[in-house]
Amino acid sequence: MQEFPGVAVLRLGHRPGRDERMTTHVGLTARALGADRVIFPDNAGGSLETVEDITDRFGGPFDAELTDSPRGVVRNWDGRVVHLTMYGERVQDVEDEIRAVHEDEPLLIVVGAEKVPFDVYEAADWNVGVTNQPHSEVAGLAVFLDRLFEGRELEREWNDADRRVIPKATGKRVVSADSSDDEPET
Ligand code: SAM
Repeated sequence: MQEFPGVAVLRLGHRPGRDERMTTHVGLTARALGADRVIFPDNAGGSLETVEDITDRFGGPFDAELTDSPRGVVRNWDGRVVHLTMYGERVQDVEDEIRAVHEDEPLLIVVGAEKVPFDVYEAADWNVGVTNQPHSEVAGLAVFLDRLFEGRELEREWNDADRRVIPKATGKRVVSADSSDDEPET
């Protein structure tokens, strides 16, 4: 992919138990679709461990971290902020502008869990709707990243993996990253 300043994804809010899989999937989607790092609230340590484990096994670079002040991350972000929300401007209307600005500045992409406080709407440079219908932070993030990178994230290379998946029309094939030997299926 062409080198642009970094993209971080911030998960705002996490209800232990109820949000476990969604928070983890925000991190995995950020990693798989081209972001450089994910920032979780500090009560989402299980999601952090899972994302780090996947990065160790399937490659990076990708960074995952916790914060005790997600709203502080938004307030103090040195770059531009995109907040994904069903109430926002249509992604297809603002994506060109965001992409152009992102050539010079790091981007923080914020996704919520439950109700997002209004100061986040005010702090964001763009409140962006991936449709103006209610759906999921994982779906919104995936579509937004693909629009931002115009599909180039699908071609990225992974470093320091210990395994890689060989694409197949049917079945599963996983090989050691530095050999073509078949490994047991995972
Ligand atoms: N009613 C909640 C609110 O006030 O934000 C929505 C919660 S929704 C289950 C969780 C998150 O999914 C939202 O904070 C937002 O980041 C994301 N989301 C849901 N629908 C979206 C859409 N159409 N476009 C962009 N993001 C969306």
